[in-house]
Amino acid sequence: MAIAKQTGYYPLTENGAKLLAKSLGFFSENEELVSTEIGDGNLNYVFRILSTSHGKSIIIKQALPYAKVVGESMPLTLKRAQIESSALKKYSEFTPESVPKVFYTDSELAVTIMEDLSDYKILRKGLNEGSTYPLLANHVGAYLAKTLFFTSDFGLNGREKKELVGQFINPELCKITEDLVFTDPFYDRDSNDFEDQLREKAEGLWQDHILKLEVGKLKRKFLTQADALLHGDLHTGSIFVTQSETKIIDPEFAFFGPIGFDIGQFFANILLNALSRTKAEQASRLAIISDTWSVFRAEFTKLWLDHNQEAYSTIAGYLDHILAEIFEDSIGFAGCEIIRRTIGLAHVADLDGIEDTAQRIKAKTEALDLGRRLVLQRKIIKTPEQLALY
Ligand code: ADP
Ligand code: MG
Repeated sequence: MAIAKQTGYYPLTENGAKLLAKSLGFFSENEELVSTEIGDGNLNYVFRILSTSHGKSIIIKQALPYAKVVGESMPLTLKRAQIESSALKKYSEFTPESVPKVFYTDSELAVTIMEDLSDYKILRKGLNEGSTYPLLANHVGAYLAKTLFFTSDFGLNGREKKELVGQFINPELCKITEDLVFTDPFYDRDSNDFEDQLREKAEGLWQDHILKLEVGKLKRKFLTQADALLHGDLHTGSIFVTQSETKIIDPEFAFFGPIGFDIGQFFANILLNALSRTKAEQASRLAIISDTWSVFRAEFTKLWLDHNQEAYSTIAGYLDHILAEIFEDSIGFAGCEIIRRTIGLAHVADLDGIEDTAQRIKAKTEALDLGRRLVLQRKIIKTPEQLALY
């Protein structure tokens, strides 16, 4: 009997995901399948479909018309599934080794069917277990350089760039970042979330006009500077790792923004992890940041010299100027991300997972101080080696 294919949008169930996989020919009709919803994310369903006979498996990710973490009271566009699929496919043009393979996209059903990476571990979990990943910085640095260079006006001609910008207009997901990263944590907003012991500190930030002036400038950059196709949510929960490979997932926040933003979010989440580890372990975390920056700089420079479409790219001093601006922005954006992950709505397990209350409050206090310092000193800090945790 043929499996009738439903049309229009409907939320998948574990069984519905199996039927969909069969109707699309990923498995034969009478194959025995196990379907499990494994999404620990906040926004979407993630189903893993596994054939018990030959072990083949796929992932079906489906956007819900609202944010799963909040519930139906927070509607959220289904178009983000299309954005995520398109970004993964775009990235695979430059760096196929860095992203899961996309097998199928249905924008009406808000579904992406992709390679199963269950053998990988989410980087945040691995770091919190104390693991180290010797190739991580190489992989992330190269991924950042390739995706950001080739989607910028240096890697594309003006027309191609503008057409691509149009495909990645993503107002609803950008609004989440504008509010949760750049605004709410710096004002007394209901969405903020922190322990009572941090109230004085938080209130200090809300009154800190020197800091807020700089965050305002960084927010404006995020709003207006359409440099390159960003991932838009490049924290350590969006990175899958093994000892030998690294895959970037979940680019549903993708849009054209300032190059330093992805780099800054990655740096920030590594720094948040560093603050949760013992002093002895912190060096390996800081090394991830300096190595990622070295690889990014080297790879971006190589692409600049070999593939630049911009007439001014050969003018002495221009590349150095761009690299300095990217670094400065990434430090500033990292500061905003560190603060929002400490007192804003969405926290990180690295800090929240510190069981001892006094230690946790101490680490969070250090995070707030570090975040503030990065925003204010972003023009003074010129290299990752000048980053000090305290
Ligand atoms: P959300 O957008 O809802 O945050 P994610 O894309 O981050 O969803 O996925 C949530 C979780 O689902 C991931 O943390 C991971 O455990 C699992 N997951 C997502 N994509 C894959 C994949 N391709 N292979 C294996 N597991 C995946
Ligand atoms: Mg997500």
